[in-house]
Amino acid sequence: MPSAVWEEYATKSKGLFGKKGLDIQERVQDIRSPGDDHVIVKVQACGVCGTDINFVRDWPDDPMPLGHEVAAAVVETGKNVTTVKPGDRVIVEDCSMCGVCEACKSGQAEFCRNMFTMEGQPGMGQYMAVRYNLLDKFDGMDFTTACLTEPLAVALTSVLHAEIPLGGSVVVLGNGPLGLMAARLAKLRGAGFVGITGLTADLPMEKARFALAHDFGCDLTIETLKQSVEDMIKKRIPNGVDRIIVSSPPHSILDAFKIIRFGGIITFFGLHFGGKNKIEVDINDMIFRKITLRPTFAEPAINFPVSNRLLRDGLVDGEKLVTHTFGFDRAASVMRAIVDGSEPIIKAVMLPQSEDMKL
Ligand SMILES: [Zn+2]
Ligand SMILES: [Zn+2]
Repeated sequence: MPSAVWEEYATKSKGLFGKKGLDIQERVQDIRSPGDDHVIVKVQACGVCGTDINFVRDWPDDPMPLGHEVAAAVVETGKNVTTVKPGDRVIVEDCSMCGVCEACKSGQAEFCRNMFTMEGQPGMGQYMAVRYNLLDKFDGMDFTTACLTEPLAVALTSVLHAEIPLGGSVVVLGNGPLGLMAARLAKLRGAGFVGITGLTADLPMEKARFALAHDFGCDLTIETLKQSVEDMIKKRIPNGVDRIIVSSPPHSILDAFKIIRFGGIITFFGLHFGGKNKIEVDINDMIFRKITLRPTFAEPAINFPVSNRLLRDGLVDGEKLVTHTFGFDRAASVMRAIVDGSEPIIKAVMLPQSEDMKL
């Protein structure tokens, strides 16, 4: 039986769904009745992910729920829930392992296909009802920084899979928030050289991202619209780099093949939903040069506790990444600015409890 608290929130709550290009549809959230294993949380911060941008840009007719990088406060718990209590600050995982399937019980939760999800609710909303095992308690940082836990875990998963040799060379393709996080993590993981690519510093957004790349310790930045990635890297590292982390769209893997060394590893997680997801690969070249191509996909949620700790301890500086916060009113204009690169946005975070934040 839904509580009075629940009824009140269910009628007030709203969330964002992408529909018709950049028209953000705002509507009263279709809230399900909370189960005994469920927890009602009040969303305090939700990051804008590249995936959200893809949804509003490339899937115009699908009203996809927006937002999966969520930091929230617990409001009410179902009667079976003992792990969190009202007032707790939590990360909401977008997708959690089950803990009981063969993969989970073999210590390979990464391959769990029996997952718990946010059940179609937008993270860019005021309230959510989620199963208790999606929640990770945190302290020692504000909600805006805490919501970076999910994207940082995505970057961390790719960096860990890259198995960076101590003092080795790494190039990160793409200077979006995930690319910048990967570059920072590569340095933390012991890389001696880290290069990063972006389009052109002429765009305000790219300029800000290149500046943070330097701040994060990158040794070289490359503007792919003006410079050849191959020339720039070969000048510094003639035999090619040890590792490449691809956060940019699939076609940039072609650049990776030009600069990877014999026996190198390329990890990649840059998706494209607008039809540009196929590339032609020279398999002979891969075999003869013993190149490993390793996709990484941080679903179900893994590495959240480590990511959360890195943010809490300032090893990855969340305050430098989050340049813009906004409420419902500004959502469409912020998304548009991310698409056209017209504002110096590195990471934008929605604060759904505040209606009138300025871009
Ligand atoms: Zn994301
Ligand atoms: Zn499982």
